[in-house]
Amino acid sequence: MSFWVQLWITVIICFACPAFAEESGEDLVEIHKQLIHNKPPQAPREYLCDVYKRTPIKKDAAGDFSWKDPAAAKRKGMDVCTYAIDGMAPELQERLAALGKAADSRGIEWSILSGFRDDWRQEIASGLKAGNKTSKHGGSKATKGYGDGRAADIVASPIRPLMVLVDQMGKDLGLNRPYKSFDPYHVQLAGPTQLVAKTAKAKVRYAKRHRGKSSHRRA
Ligand SMILES: [Zn+2]
Repeated sequence: MSFWVQLWITVIICFACPAFAEESGEDLVEIHKQLIHNKPPQAPREYLCDVYKRTPIKKDAAGDFSWKDPAAAKRKGMDVCTYAIDGMAPELQERLAALGKAADSRGIEWSILSGFRDDWRQEIASGLKAGNKTSKHGGSKATKGYGDGRAADIVASPIRPLMVLVDQMGKDLGLNRPYKSFDPYHVQLAGPTQLVAKTAKAKVRYAKRHRGKSSHRRA
């Protein structure tokens, strides 16, 4: 190897190596940061289960109904998350998780009051609610049952920022809250409107009959 070639190799090594080493070092630091801070994204099911557990006491204007999901889950030999969260349709889980993460990023402390409900669970629900079999939460006449729950009741304190977010993002996500202030907690997969309209009319009739009392009862 000639002197000049050796000189050029030395020059290249002297200049390139520190820069390369520095860059590699930065890369390593970045990877390390990602490993520490950016945990792998949680699956919608796990995330929603955590969100559900944020409020162990499930309560609305009709009272404390915390015992109802555990009772319905026990009947099926399931834990509460397997019952209430896994019982929801996968697309509802995904859309709800996307909505929820947007809520989290805006500092909205939200939780899930109720997810999947089979006919038995719907029967023990009280206040403003659909018929035992026609509930979008998992009624046997409105859904295919377990794994196809198409509605969830969500809550935040105050609730308004969460509702505004549903209205803002709902169209893109394919989620809506058809009963508006009659049942502000209820969100469901956007879909055919006929049944929604029919149930909404029934809810309006219920609200008129119970004028003066809170209409926000569905537990
Ligand atoms: Zn509902």
